[in-house]
Amino acid sequence: MSPARPHPSSDITVSSGDALALARALIRCPSVTPANAGALDVLQAAAESLGFACHRQVFGEGGEAVDNLYARLGTTGPNFCFAGHTDVVPVGDGWTVDPFAADIVNGTLYGRGAADMKSAIAAFLAAVARLRAAGKIPGSISLLITGDEEGDAVNGTAKMLDWLHAKGEHLDACLVGEPTNPTKLGEMIKIGRRGSLTGKLTVYGTPGHSAYPHLADNPIPRLMQMLGALIAAPLDQGSAHFPPSTVAITTIDVGNRATNVIPGVAKAGFNIRFNDHHTGAKLKDWVRTSCDRFAATGTYDLEVKISGESFLTPPGPLSNLVAGAVKAVTGMTPELSTTGGTSDARFIRKVCPVCEFGMIGLTMHKADESCSLADLDTLTAIYLKVLQNYFAGPGFDSPGQSA
Ligand SMILES: [Zn+2]
Repeated sequence: MSPARPHPSSDITVSSGDALALARALIRCPSVTPANAGALDVLQAAAESLGFACHRQVFGEGGEAVDNLYARLGTTGPNFCFAGHTDVVPVGDGWTVDPFAADIVNGTLYGRGAADMKSAIAAFLAAVARLRAAGKIPGSISLLITGDEEGDAVNGTAKMLDWLHAKGEHLDACLVGEPTNPTKLGEMIKIGRRGSLTGKLTVYGTPGHSAYPHLADNPIPRLMQMLGALIAAPLDQGSAHFPPSTVAITTIDVGNRATNVIPGVAKAGFNIRFNDHHTGAKLKDWVRTSCDRFAATGTYDLEVKISGESFLTPPGPLSNLVAGAVKAVTGMTPELSTTGGTSDARFIRKVCPVCEFGMIGLTMHKADESCSLADLDTLTAIYLKVLQNYFAGPGFDSPGQSA
């Protein structure tokens, strides 16, 4: 990024209960994964101004170091946690504004992270400021913010949760501020996510002249049969809270530029998004068995990566709490959904009930990412309502989520 932009201020406060200044300050930090670029410093200063005790943890397994923040306001339970990430995806092409200038045009805030998900972090802190101004909080509020969500997610939330566990820190409920709304703020809460399995298939044969196929062993038909077996029938019809699982063939590569040569190798990639009818391990076995049926005359390699199992916090106290807050502020009854890609909630669900609610996702990861100032205010009001009702209610500590 060439043009000079204002240095990110580290003394932005949200004590007025207005999220905008903090959202802009966060966007002005070009924190493309794994860079922090001052984003967590800005956030920490704002959190400390509200009385949060802040802890930074840097993890660097297998690559560049990633900075993470845990902050807690209060020392007693219950501990309501807001989780998210300050890292953003690379800028890409097609922007009509500086992606890190946090410009406001016609009531819309532009910048990388405006939707995914710096604005939500700012809205949450602004909500805490408003709650705090109204009196003592009967419990604790914490922030679990990573700089490694958009990357491999190896040195972020998963490691922070281990660290919290070692410290004896307990989270009672967690709201992740990922952008969950398709087109309108209030439409959708995510209560779980599908699992994801990525496979790479390499089929070997014997190259030869295409006029003498009996002297060669063409790997392409075998590759096609294997892929055909994977997509021959639906994996399932969906479950109570999940859509049907899907298999997408993502690439077929032979790279053969000759018209009269049978190639020796053919490769393909596929991605399976699976619901709670499956586990990654069982699907991996199924893929292997399906391919074996067509392996007869040649060898093949199968590489499988399971980046997350499916998970669900069944509709209950936490989703009721968030849906109630959405309804109270917007009048809308949000759908409880498990669609979309995976998120760090897949790690958090192991320690407490978790659901996700944040901005509108239409522009996330795109050029001219944005959120409207009206939505920023509405999201702040929803988060405030969540906190008010959580601390006014009987509390809930029943994990109740599926394994
Ligand atoms: Zn995100």
